Amino acid sequence: MGTEKRVHTFVRVKPTANFAQDMIKFGPDNKTIDIYIKKDAKKGVVNNRQTDWSFRLDGVLHNTSQELAYETVAKKLVSEALIGYNGTIMCYGQTGAGKTYTMTGATAEYKHRGIIPRAIQQVLDLSGKRATAHSVDPFITVRISYLEIYNETLFDLLSTMTSNGTSDMQMAVVDCPQGVYVKGLSIHSVSHEEDALNLLFEGETNRMIAEHTLNKNSSRSHCIFTIYIEVRSRFRVFSDVKCINSKINLIDLAGSERLSKTGSEGQVLKEATYINKSLSFLEQIIIALADPKRDHIPFRQSKLTHVLKDSLGGNCNTVLVANICGEAVHVEETLSSLRFATRMKWITTEPVLNETYDREVLEQCQVFATLVLAQLFVNRSFVTYDPLTDIQIAGIKSQVHKYLKGAIDEIDIVNIRQVREVFKQFKLIVSQQEREVEARLRSKYALIDKNDFAAVAAVQKAGVVDVDGHLVLEEDGQPSGTRPTPFSSRRGGKKKSRKSNEQPKKDRIGSSLSGRDLDGFLPSKSRVIISTKDLDVKEGVRSQDTANIDAELSKPAPVEDSQRPSSPPSKPVAFEQFKEECGSEISRIFKENKSILLARKKRSSTVAQRINFIKREMEGIKKALEAQKQERWQQGEYVDEKGQIIIDEQEFLLIMKLKDLKEEYRSGYAELQDLKAEIQYCQHLVDQCRNKLISEFEIWYSESFLIPKDVREALKPGGNIRPGMIPINRVMCLEEDEQDRFERMQETTLPACPASVSFYKAKMKTDQKHAYTRTMSSLEQMRKKPGLITAAGKNKPLSFLHVM
Ligand code: ADP
Ligand code: MG
Repeated sequence: MGTEKRVHTFVRVKPTANFAQDMIKFGPDNKTIDIYIKKDAKKGVVNNRQTDWSFRLDGVLHNTSQELAYETVAKKLVSEALIGYNGTIMCYGQTGAGKTYTMTGATAEYKHRGIIPRAIQQVLDLSGKRATAHSVDPFITVRISYLEIYNETLFDLLSTMTSNGTSDMQMAVVDCPQGVYVKGLSIHSVSHEEDALNLLFEGETNRMIAEHTLNKNSSRSHCIFTIYIEVRSRFRVFSDVKCINSKINLIDLAGSERLSKTGSEGQVLKEATYINKSLSFLEQIIIALADPKRDHIPFRQSKLTHVLKDSLGGNCNTVLVANICGEAVHVEETLSSLRFATRMKWITTEPVLNETYDREVLEQCQVFATLVLAQLFVNRSFVTYDPLTDIQIAGIKSQVHKYLKGAIDEIDIVNIRQVREVFKQFKLIVSQQEREVEARLRSKYALIDKNDFAAVAAVQKAGVVDVDGHLVLEEDGQPSGTRPTPFSSRRGGKKKSRKSNEQPKKDRIGSSLSGRDLDGFLPSKSRVIISTKDLDVKEGVRSQDTANIDAELSKPAPVEDSQRPSSPPSKPVAFEQFKEECGSEISRIFKENKSILLARKKRSSTVAQRINFIKREMEGIKKALEAQKQERWQQGEYVDEKGQIIIDEQEFLLIMKLKDLKEEYRSGYAELQDLKAEIQYCQHLVDQCRNKLISEFEIWYSESFLIPKDVREALKPGGNIRPGMIPINRVMCLEEDEQDRFERMQETTLPACPASVSFYKAKMKTDQKHAYTRTMSSLEQMRKKPGLITAAGKNKPLSFLHVM
């Protein structure tokens, strides 16, 4: 696969007793599938002519075992990931067609496990073998993450495995030259198959719980299980530590069913729109990737496509499995899935090895430059001009890293090409570091667009930004000593002094374009950084949103409560306290999202205005050109020896200007499209944060003020629950059941298949953990409502599940 440049597509048919054999036919080579549909008599013209389609794929999996499916679809891709090629496998198809069965499989039975557990086995088995067989090469690290995208929101399915139980960081897709990553997504190191399977089962369980507690429909979410592989080779290439990084994305896409058929309403309709959009964006991306002339690929239109930016086309082995149902009633959906698969086939991919070198701290570029030049002069006699080989480049990379680490004092340089390469390596490291610093700043501060004058003005009013947009308050909100001067006055002054010899129009276009390189929510030079804390305090006008929340909260506040000294505080008062304490993070995120949304909206309107302006200007130039042409005709045209019309300089300049404007119009338009998608997403986030803020507050309020203190203490993890308060057998019986089941299984299954031990152990652990949590949460319910004893906590909400 490594050298082939195409996405591999397979179709897998779900077994059925009612297979529509008149409609669906397979070719003898098991690579084609033909669909025959008699035209529906109800839909207008009555005729018996058959409508036929023929699809050619890389393979048809019909009545195929999980094992064979894995061999056909995934095995090679996984082994190539182990030598450094990224890989992506996606399952696409209508709900119920077998996507989850193919990806995860039936977790109850080892034999029916799907691609994910098998890939885990292949990766960890191999890494284990390599680690022991070649002791020279023991450095293989395997890590895992499990991401869910639901309604354009990112969920960490493994957040329950992090030490504090939740990931309170705002998740976002972030682009960087090394690839795309999701900020805030927990990534877990695993050294054994069982650890990795534990994570898979944990994620699956969280998916199910979220389905019940948040009223989510798991068929409406995209789930991405990622295995990250890092191989540090001790083979010395130019006395260097080489490092291979690759990842395998295993994706269970949301159901592809059409909206009309589901007849969705309300929440479901919204969800369906989201999925249909992200799937159709996925299609758009695929079509765009297949077109060599397309240069703008709108990856950022949806979370899904953004996350997959470095996993589609690009440097990745990509496999699509279209899961279809074999029944006649589903033939429309089947057709649409097959169409999708064949479109997918046209994407070309160029898998490349991901070899990188360990990141190191960098500060001494200038010193280095001097050293390099000195070296160069010393070694002049060796000057050669052959292009550098990959090995030479790798050698330089390694030297740069060692130099930065302080392991060596000099870098061997013999020619200019090497100098260039060395600088390239430095640049790479510097930009990587910049991004890291920015990411760290991002986690502390909110960002506003520097071109967003209203926001900047607001911040200035609060006194947190100086004339050049620098932060003048320390993290704790205290002024750092710099006296802020009015931003506008100095800026205006600067402009005035340049005005005489610069075109004002050009200036403005230039400055409005400078925001273009902003990617995602990452800060860049054109933004200023401000502390959200300061904004919070100094925000002159209370925003609509917060006011609404207050109104909502003040409604149910019990009046008599405030009269008793020991009574709980009123909700608005408590809300302020909540925002300061437990809710500070979510409150901060909420405000941050709002300010991002505001900035995007402003930017969008600026871009829209600019586009309109450009359009008008283009029309003006077109008219002028027309007039020039008329004039030329009237005066008689000049023609050169080749018969081409000679035009004067003025007309030439107009044509060039028009060309520039067209280019600018196009880029502005593309930016506007991106902004629109971002605004829609941000709006959604803001809404979600608001709800989250309120619901978290409600929980906090009742836990802090309404539950008696002793019960609160007892309920705390590790708190002592007094015997007799709960039927202890309810807690115990579940564990006993699981234990029994495992022991029975060991007796029956294990002797036949020793490889399945990890699978069943991991499964049992996850089940036990969740049975315990369920019991605890049902206990909590019991305490809240004395007398009401529920069944042992099936489908009970878990308090640690966070909607972020
Ligand atoms: P999807 O994820 O596409 O909505 P599922 O994977 O949940 O669909 O499949 C629906 C049902 O069909 C499940 O009960 C699953 O076990 C079963 N199923 C799907 N594909 C197969 C198959 N190839 N062999 C046996 N059972 C299957
Ligand atoms: Mg499914």
